[in-house]
Amino acid sequence: MDDADKLRAQFPIFAAHPEVAYLDSAATAQKPQAVLDAVVDYLTTSNANAGRGTYTWANRTTARIDAARERLRAFLDDPEPGRSGVHFVSGTTEGLRSVALDWLAPQLRDGDEIIVPFADHRANTLPWLEVAELLGRQGIRITVRPMPYDAAHDYDHRQLAALITERTRFIAVTHVHHVYGGDMNVHRIRAAAGPGIPICLDAAQSIGHLPVSVTDLDVDFVVFSGHKAMALPGTGAVWARNQRGPAYTPGGWSGTPNTSGIVSLAAALDWLDEVGLERIEEWTVALAARLTDALCRLPSYEVLGCQRSLAADSPVQKRRGIVTFRHHDIGSNDLGFILASDAMMVRADDHCQGEDGEKTTSVRVSLHVYNTVDEVERLIAALTALENRR
Ligand code: PMP
Repeated sequence: MDDADKLRAQFPIFAAHPEVAYLDSAATAQKPQAVLDAVVDYLTTSNANAGRGTYTWANRTTARIDAARERLRAFLDDPEPGRSGVHFVSGTTEGLRSVALDWLAPQLRDGDEIIVPFADHRANTLPWLEVAELLGRQGIRITVRPMPYDAAHDYDHRQLAALITERTRFIAVTHVHHVYGGDMNVHRIRAAAGPGIPICLDAAQSIGHLPVSVTDLDVDFVVFSGHKAMALPGTGAVWARNQRGPAYTPGGWSGTPNTSGIVSLAAALDWLDEVGLERIEEWTVALAARLTDALCRLPSYEVLGCQRSLAADSPVQKRRGIVTFRHHDIGSNDLGFILASDAMMVRADDHCQGEDGEKTTSVRVSLHVYNTVDEVERLIAALTALENRR
């Protein structure tokens, strides 16, 4: 067994289903044995509610949750772990909504402006619009400006700089795009925005795939889904700079937390660090490039986001482990069914893009460290066989 096989062997679902090529990790990732073991260990040794016991199991549960918070701060390269807040949520959708309604809404005043990405995942568009609408009904007018994009679907930082005014109070961005797989070069957003404006990062597609450093990116909120980073379904977190304590108190904060999910998240972050984010990044980028190259040679296919006309001083937008495409004659849902009939699990729909997103459906292949060259070759062979078929 080589190293890649040894790593894949840590995922029991693949041993149970050797015929399956799971190519939908952007929707949710599979779980390594270490994560499953941590959950079983917790549930069979100290399952209790957190923060409210005088007995050992409750205290152990509280300690595990506190440790998971510290684990996440370290994972995010938090420069001031004593000051940040970490709130566990069910996923990115709930996390972004919680930042919008619990934190942003009370900050905004009549005439304020916010900048929102309309061609990213709807989970990162709708909550900000909801805040503006909610406040609008109370007579507080908020201007929502669409984040500008360039021809490569990257953010246009020059146009963004021109949009910033003294009334700009908030900017929402995405780290890696869930349809085009592009790295959105978020480090340029702070430079364009200046120092004072809070920036919220949707890290749903970057956590577990590449380092997400709040020191490097200089953002104020990071929101992600733990289940896309190999933790259990129903897990996720909001990291908030300088927001420890009552400054940011999301709804449900005082309720029963998803204890086993939080335990699984801490175990997943350990696993990811052990494997190495650089290795994961290198592997998934290489597999995606192999697929993209093959598809670009097949005239029946269009790979979304592949046409670029970048300005000379723009950094080249790196593509991550997501490749989305269409066949000119076969509908995307049909293509999804054809691949599924051969045990290749891809996503075929509109991918929940916001209102400035793609207008027709497409097929998305998303990769993680457990995917193999053989799986990608098998997919390429199946897609090649469909070349020129109606
Ligand atoms: N943002 C992005 C960029 C995503 O890819 C997703 C998941 N497809 C979400 C938000 C929503 O994540 P969840 O369904 O886990 O809440």
